[in-house]
This record gives sequence, structure tokens and C-alpha cells, in this order.
Amino acid sequence: MVTITEKHVEELYELAKQVYAGKTKVSDALEIMHQQGMTKVSANIYINNFKLMMKGRGYKRTLNLYAVEYYLENISKDYGSSGLKSAVQSVELHINYFGNFSKGKMPGLKNLLNHYRKISGSGEWVASGSIYPDEIEDSKIFTEGAKKQRWVNAYERNADARKECIKKYNYICAVCNFDFRVRFGEIGKEFIHVHHLIELSAVAKEYQIDPIKDLRPVCPNCHAMLHRKRPAFTIEELKKIIELQKGETA
Ligand SMILES: [Zn+2]
Ligand SMILES: [Zn+2]
Repeated sequence: MVTITEKHVEELYELAKQVYAGKTKVSDALEIMHQQGMTKVSANIYINNFKLMMKGRGYKRTLNLYAVEYYLENISKDYGSSGLKSAVQSVELHINYFGNFSKGKMPGLKNLLNHYRKISGSGEWVASGSIYPDEIEDSKIFTEGAKKQRWVNAYERNADARKECIKKYNYICAVCNFDFRVRFGEIGKEFIHVHHLIELSAVAKEYQIDPIKDLRPVCPNCHAMLHRKRPAFTIEELKKIIELQKGETA
């Protein structure tokens, strides 16, 4: 396999821009890159992905990390914040598309994306549920020196519990059946909060989560309502409240 160098990436970006503007034919661009030792197939991916970024559409063939950064940086310079917003959206769709089966590569890409989200004015990509007392996040990185090991262990346990819970109950709200994928398409895929049925302050620190018995996936709306009182409403109580409310407004 031929390595795609930084120089290749920089050249590809310029060519992709020209192709996008209709100033250069794709076949000519591919020929130029071929002369520089790239296969036409890979060159085509890099040129086509630029177009998809400009249109805010997800791309499926992976770019190297340097290329993603270079493209985002220069799209921002050349096309301003609206160009950058489209490109950021495109990378997000790409991450969602590949999120299932290349977890290892995602943290670098996600950090990069967060940086450019901020620049483009889209705000930082926030992990689900930081304002809820019991939400288990699946993407938190702890780096607190001595405390690190303990945090990492707890985190891995929690992440596993979250996974088990979702495997059993799916990405669907246990209260109102809301499905983010159905409502929001690609960006809603695999988004859900996870709620502890047991009040966390009421249990010992060493308590072992039973993902099936103790956890339920819930949408952020229902999650917020569950925590409107302490101890929290039960899932059944909240379902009843919604039913009663339907009766009121019918
Ligand atoms: Zn809900
Ligand atoms: Zn909760």
C-alpha cells in the first residue's frame, strides 16, 4: 500500500478545489496524482470527499487524520464559517457511519472535530447528558494522575453496563419510546441517555450495577422529568403522568 504523504494531501486539496470549481477535470487531477505515486483510486477518494465535505454530506471512504485536519483548516480559510460548518457536519456523519466498528480511531477524530466545531460556531460536541446526575457517558476520558486508574476502572465498568443495558433495551426511550434514529436520521443514531433506577446517593460506593435490572435507556426529555423530584420518579410513575396528561388535553 502506498503511503499518502502530507505533500500528497496538500496537492489533493488544491486539485479538489479546482475540480469542485469546474476548473479541472477529475481525470486530469487523478493523472497528476498518479504521476506523484498515488493510485487513482485513493486520489479519487480524497477528491470526492472534498466535494462531500463542501456539501455537508457524510463520506464513507476514510481520509487520514492529517487530511481531515488539513481539509477542515483550509476549508475554513477558503470558504469561511459556512464552508467549515458543512465540512464539520460531513465529518460527523462519517464518524457516525463508522462509529460502530473502528472505535480506536475515533478519539483523535472527535477531538479534532470538536476543535473545528467551536471555530465554526457550532459549539462543542457535548457527550450526552452531563446535566443529569446519573448519566453514564460513553466517551469520557479521565486524566487525573494518581486518580486515573480508579477512574478508568469505574469508567470501563460503567461503559460496559451502559452497553449491556442498550443491548437489552435498544436505543429507545423506556418512558415514551422516542427513537432518535427515527426522528433525526444519521445524527440520531446510537444516541440515548441511560438512567439509574436506583438513587445513586442511596447506595454504597462499591455497589455493582446490574445493567438489566438497574438501568434503562431514556430520552433527555423524559430523563429530565424523572429527576424533577428526589428521589426520582419511577419509569411507571412518569408513564402514568404522560397518560393522565393525554387525557387532560384530549
Ligand atoms: Zn422519552
Ligand atoms: Zn437518571
